[in-house]
Amino acid sequence: MTEIKEKVGGKKRLEELKAELYRCIHCRACRFSYSGEPDRKGIGEHKGVLYEGMLDGCPAGHHFGWEGFWNAGRMWMARAVLEGDLDLEDEKTKQQMYEILFRCPTCGNCSMQCENNLPTVDINEALRACLYEAGVEMLPKHSGLRKLIDAKNNPYNEEHSQRTDWVPDKAVIDDPDAKIAYYVGCTASYRMKAMANATVELLNKLVKKGIIPKYTILTDEVCCGSVVFRTGQWDVAKKVANENIKNFNKFEKVLFSCAGCHRTFKIDYPKFGEQPPKYQALHVVEFLADYLTIHCPACGKYNDLGSEHCGNDFCPKYSKNGEKFPPELTENKIIITKKWDKGPVTWHDPCHTIRHMCHSLKDEAIEQTTGEGNDNMWKVYVPSIFERQRWIEMPRAIMRAIPGLELKEMYRIGENSLCCGAGGGVKAGYPDFAWDCANERLEEADATGAGIVMTMCPFCELNMGQAAREGKDGSPEGASVGGKYKGKVLDLLEVLNEMID
Ligand code: SF4
Ligand code: SF4
Repeated sequence: MTEIKEKVGGKKRLEELKAELYRCIHCRACRFSYSGEPDRKGIGEHKGVLYEGMLDGCPAGHHFGWEGFWNAGRMWMARAVLEGDLDLEDEKTKQQMYEILFRCPTCGNCSMQCENNLPTVDINEALRACLYEAGVEMLPKHSGLRKLIDAKNNPYNEEHSQRTDWVPDKAVIDDPDAKIAYYVGCTASYRMKAMANATVELLNKLVKKGIIPKYTILTDEVCCGSVVFRTGQWDVAKKVANENIKNFNKFEKVLFSCAGCHRTFKIDYPKFGEQPPKYQALHVVEFLADYLTIHCPACGKYNDLGSEHCGNDFCPKYSKNGEKFPPELTENKIIITKKWDKGPVTWHDPCHTIRHMCHSLKDEAIEQTTGEGNDNMWKVYVPSIFERQRWIEMPRAIMRAIPGLELKEMYRIGENSLCCGAGGGVKAGYPDFAWDCANERLEEADATGAGIVMTMCPFCELNMGQAAREGKDGSPEGASVGGKYKGKVLDLLEVLNEMID
């Protein structure tokens, strides 16, 4: 008999989501990636895959190919738990459910495709929390992450006292006068230090030039808890969330170079924290976009430096035929003068930026709209359209600010982007599956002819970078097996650091 965990709230959360869950009509539209743009041209056939029309967009269903692994099957399971048809006290049932439910990188493709707007990732995570609180026997890799985060504040079994050892300029650590904090995250602090260093170097240059205000890095920073939120281990997730809220609530802005940490601070902490977060959570790319582009104050679109209008048909103020941008919007800008000479680039949108951000905003808008006397559904769709455009445009507008950089888009972009397969505890628990997902994404990158994949998440960079360099067993020799990508995977912040003096 396995130990029954202290209640973590999975069942309660599933009950809260019941009204939305029961909107699922099992139509299975959520398995595809459809851009909603019927006239959009594909990029043709590459190595036997036709990148055109409606493609499978659910990595779990596509990989394992059985009903339960697609999102529609997961929604059925959630219903069966609520109605008592699946008994979580039954050992065999819960172990079988675990095997299915945890093989999903929580990419959110399903939540974006569903016309009934089901919060599929929230439902999947609540189911995982139900299993955890029912005492399911987890893979040691999954339970080990929780134990390590609980004991050492990071999932990599590193010493907390060494978390800031990589910081080159110790003056930025624990600066009491800074109003902005950079939350580095465990992956960048312990495993992707080059990326953390590049971010700090870039920020330091801009502080020195007087373009951005000074910032600090906290020794009290602990794991954001993303992986324990995603895997339903909410007792430890809530513990680290509360610790971070306490430490970061004294700042006006908190910056992130990891899309997963950003998502967790921005979307999970307000739902699960004991006290409400007061800071504004911004990805560093989002923060710097204001200095590299003209960010329209009316509709939020990112426009190239020198633009007179935002050119956004939905913009309530600075549309194509409307008023011009005021001159002050062009002040305090970063002009990149170096020329890009590394060939064409393709862009991978991390799931935790566009998809997770847009779905959360849509939820918020629906809550506001369904309030009494407020039945204008337009108010739901306009903010989510703007938010979608904002996250799609932001990195692309920054890439356009790099002279000579040619962007070659993959077929699936934005909210239809194919997941790299690293999230939701998949990389830790099912590394073969994560490797296959990354390779599928890299095949799509290869089809564009670009030799570089750029992104804004160290976890995507790590997973796709490893898949490009190594075999499934982690050995470099494995790279010669299969049709893997021969190009490089780079982080946009590392590139910006190289391009800005
Ligand atoms: S989640 Fe949405 S798209 Fe998927 S089966 Fe249910 S109703 Fe259809
Ligand atoms: S979150 Fe992604 S992998 Fe999981 S069921 Fe939805 S589309 Fe499939």
